[in-house]
Amino acid sequence: MNIILLGPPGAGKGTQASRLEADRGMVQLSTGDMLRAAVKAGSPVGLQAKAVMEAGELVSDAIVSALIGERLDAGAGSGAIFDGYPRTAAQAEALDLLLAERGQTLDHVIELEVDEDALVERIVGRFTCANCGEGYHDRFKRPAVEGTCDVCGHHEFKRRPDDNEATVRTRMTEYRAKTAPIIPIYEGRGLLRRVDGMADIRHVTESIEAILGPA
Ligand code: AMP
Repeated sequence: MNIILLGPPGAGKGTQASRLEADRGMVQLSTGDMLRAAVKAGSPVGLQAKAVMEAGELVSDAIVSALIGERLDAGAGSGAIFDGYPRTAAQAEALDLLLAERGQTLDHVIELEVDEDALVERIVGRFTCANCGEGYHDRFKRPAVEGTCDVCGHHEFKRRPDDNEATVRTRMTEYRAKTAPIIPIYEGRGLLRRVDGMADIRHVTESIEAILGPA
């Protein structure tokens, strides 16, 4: 089963994708994570993407679709969860082709509906454990013991360089201009389902699980 999680930055796509990955043996394919790894490694893709990402703009369609193709070739367990891809109409077309070439189909497109005003606060307050990647938030989810990761006990945390208010505003504008217009395409194909992304994390997961059916 292959699914897309759609929604603006901070809607909870990454959080839900990791939960589905753990619960159902699906594989999260996050182009944002792939690009951040490329930037960290200083690869040619990373060098091209770094400034674009820091500005909150979109990396080229060709680069991200190539990354997705490579990851699909590496195998996607019991199915792929596309997180942060596709983000443009050209990427949506590329994904259809990438799947068709591999004899696969797209089963569901799940839009996390959120109140945009709440997103800036969600994003600007978030941070992760530098060791295990567990996600936290200044207001909504602090570690139980201040300065110590609940999961692995590590003491260092990090924040994404693009999680600042100015960049978040650009990311939202990009979403509205380039990503939101692909929603009607999937709606027309009968693939779109909407979920309340403002509900608490567990409820959002339950709503998605209900759409996907038994694992
Ligand atoms: P994310 O982690 O999904 O919020 O992505 C972080 C940044 O990576 C975005 O603001 C873009 O600069 C870039 N990016 C991630 N996925 C894509 C994509 N599918 N198309 C274009 N740029 C992307």
